[in-house]
Parts: sequence; structure tokens; C-alpha cells
Amino acid sequence: MFAIPHIRHDSTGLAPAAAFTYPRIRLATRRRPKLGQHFLTSDAYRRRIVEALALGPDDLVIEIGPGQGAMTGLLAERASQVVAVELDPDLAGKLARQFADALNVEVITADILEVDVGKICRAHGAAAAFVFGNLPYYITSPILHHLLEAPERIRALACVVQLEVAERITAQPGTRDYGYLSVLAQLHSHPRLRFRIPPGAFSPPPAVVSALVTFDMKSGDMLAGRAPVDEARQGDFLAFVKASFAQKRKTLANNLAGKYGADRVHGALRSLGIRENARAEELSVAELSGLFRRLA
Ligand code: SAM
Repeated sequence: MFAIPHIRHDSTGLAPAAAFTYPRIRLATRRRPKLGQHFLTSDAYRRRIVEALALGPDDLVIEIGPGQGAMTGLLAERASQVVAVELDPDLAGKLARQFADALNVEVITADILEVDVGKICRAHGAAAAFVFGNLPYYITSPILHHLLEAPERIRALACVVQLEVAERITAQPGTRDYGYLSVLAQLHSHPRLRFRIPPGAFSPPPAVVSALVTFDMKSGDMLAGRAPVDEARQGDFLAFVKASFAQKRKTLANNLAGKYGADRVHGALRSLGIRENARAEELSVAELSGLFRRLA
């Protein structure tokens, strides 16, 4: 691990990359494999990705892990403002210098998991942001969790993830890949697997195939109060979903019996017209939320 330097905060509460001093010895292109640093070097895929994003000229883009800026310039050409959040201070410093003359690119040295998307939106006078990232794969789930916890601040989301995760995010009930990540993503969005990206498009190549997933947010539902679960209860619902999928080989009733009692769970399943020996992966987001409302 490496030490994150002392952070000086700006108006967004975060640290502008240019605020740091960079000892020369650390400026070499040292790669930090632990930070999931696989840089997108294929120009063809960079263009294919940016063209798949429904970006508009008024968009505020928050880019997760810009790295060496493979996507940053392309995003800045199409959006009003790009706020690039990079954890590695060496990369962030270089990027800040690279974009020093670009009026619409701001580089922040921070952990995306600590970043308050709402705060960045407010600082830029935007209601919501378009969030994009070629994600560091070691924290894909925590990042999605963090972002989707405040869905009203996200106009749209798009990310490059490993193919296996893309398949889980977009899986439908009744399929092998359907699980917690699918419910988390589909609670507030319509995620779509757009295309695969081979390891050779990155340097160094990761061990796995990647894919671009775009998430169209269900913001209309939220605003109209038609969300499957009240915003205030979303955390409890996600904990309930986690418990429902806790042991995939067990029935849903067995997974939930410890907490709610077998009789109550069976009664709730019957009243919803769901088979009592169903497994969690057979239930849609609407069915899981219906069960949650009856039990929790
Ligand atoms: N966007 C660049 C590209 O497409 O070439 C780099 C993508 S690389 C897969 C992931 C990037 O995320 C790296 O630059 C890494 O340093 C950065 N990163 C890792 N953990 C992070 C975190 N918690 N917050 C912000 N950035 C992070």
C-alpha cells in the first residue's frame, strides 16, 4: 500500500490534484496493480465507448479513476464539465498538469467511495451528474453500491466492468447470474450490457474479458413516488436482499426464517402468490420488495 498525502480541501470538500507536491522520485510511471490499473490503450474501443454514452453538451460528468486520461479528453469534448476522481496521487497530478489549460476538466485526488456526488453536483450547479468509469475491478460492487445509494443525483451511469460482473448486473430473474448485484442495479435503473472489450484493449491486459454497461436511471419512478421501496428504507431493503441470497442453495424461506420466523415467511410468500420453496433468484425486484414490505 502507499500513503495518501495530506489532503487540502477545496469548495467541494475534496482535494484538487494540483494542491499536492509530487516528489520527483515518485513521478516515474509506477503502476499500482492493487488499484486495478489497466489502462485503455485501444483508440477504437475508447471511441466506441464514448459513442455509446448518451452524453449531452450540458452534462456534468464525474469520471471514476481517469488514470492516464484515456477517456477524459473524449468526455470533455462532449460534456459541459468533467470532474475526474483519481485515487493515485501520481496519476492525478500528471492528469491535472495535462489538462491545466482545459477549462472544463477538474482533477480531484480522492477515493471515489468517499466522494459525495451530491456535493459535486451542487458545486457545479447541476441537479444530477453523468457518472462514467472504467472501474478498478477490485471495488466494482462497493462503487455501484455507493453510487446507487443516492440515485437521484445520477442522471445516467456507465461503466466498464469485467464481463462476468456485467452479466450479473444485467441478469434477469430465474437465471444463474441473477443475484444481489442485479437487484441493486435494477432497483433504480435499466442496465444494459452494450459490448465486450477484449483484454488486449488494455495495458497491461487484465486476466478477464471486460464489457461496457450503461444504466438508464428510473428517475421518473422515483419522482412520482412509484419506486419499489421508499428511499428512506432502501438500505434496509438491500440488507434484506443480501439475506435472501445469502445461501444460494437454500430456499428463500430458509434464508429468511432465522430473522423473521418460518411461519411468517411462508405466510408472506403464500399471500403474494409465490411458491413457498422458491429460491431468491426466481423473484423479480418487484416481488422481493413486496415480500420486504410484508416482513420487515
Ligand atoms: N480510466 C483509465 C483508463 O480507462 O485507462 C484508467 C482505468 S483503470 C481500470 C482504474 C483507475 O481507477 C486507475 O487509474 C486507478 O488508479 C483508479 N482507482 C483505483 N481505486 C480508486 C478509487 N477508490 N477511487 C478513485 N480511483 C481509483
